[in-house]
Amino acid sequence: MSKILIIEDEEAIADLEKDYLELSDFQVNIENTGDKGLAEALANDYDLIILDLMLPGMDGFEVCKKIREQKNIPILMVSAKKDDIDKIRGLGLGADDYMTKPFSPSELVARVKAHMARYDRLVGSVSKTNDIVEIRGIKIDKTARRVWIDGEERAFTTKEFDLLTFLAENPNHVYTKEELFREIWEMDSIGDIATVTVHIKKIREKIEFDTSNPQYIETIWGVGYRFKV
Ligand code: CA
Repeated sequence: MSKILIIEDEEAIADLEKDYLELSDFQVNIENTGDKGLAEALANDYDLIILDLMLPGMDGFEVCKKIREQKNIPILMVSAKKDDIDKIRGLGLGADDYMTKPFSPSELVARVKAHMARYDRLVGSVSKTNDIVEIRGIKIDKTARRVWIDGEERAFTTKEFDLLTFLAENPNHVYTKEELFREIWEMDSIGDIATVTVHIKKIREKIEFDTSNPQYIETIWGVGYRFKV
């Protein structure tokens, strides 16, 4: 569930905003001063902040600036005065949107949803950049060609990496040495298939806790290998 922080000193407005946002399945917290709002915004993970401009203590300008120094989440600024919006823009505080009071709660909800969708797209596209394969304690980043075993990075040669990734991406499937050789070395199986055995041994030394009792790449006697899940 997406979390929203409302920083607003007028209790009636804050409660109204909270009610409407909760009806749209958002989880909402309210802080009623700039200082408390800033502390809460920095201490917890919110998906969006609704920030009033005129607040007791630290005002909305300062709160916005300080949140922006540390976080990239959408900030929707709210003000009673139209002139303030020009001022917010002019200061370049990094607010994502501005609304003038009074506004309809449904318009607020619509804007909140639009900003979240936009932010999800941006953040989502970043996290999807790398193609990750994760099986039990093994994490393979195919894009960066890096491998972690129980959180610890290990170095693999190109062919070791390709072989491990191929097996991990096709778990529970038994491959013969010939099939693996063709798959990874991309030649007809005229080459030396013993190279597969050598590579499996090297991979096991890097991923297995006990190479005599492998937990990941299993030997199927007389057939080949299988990645266990
Ligand atoms: Ca206020």
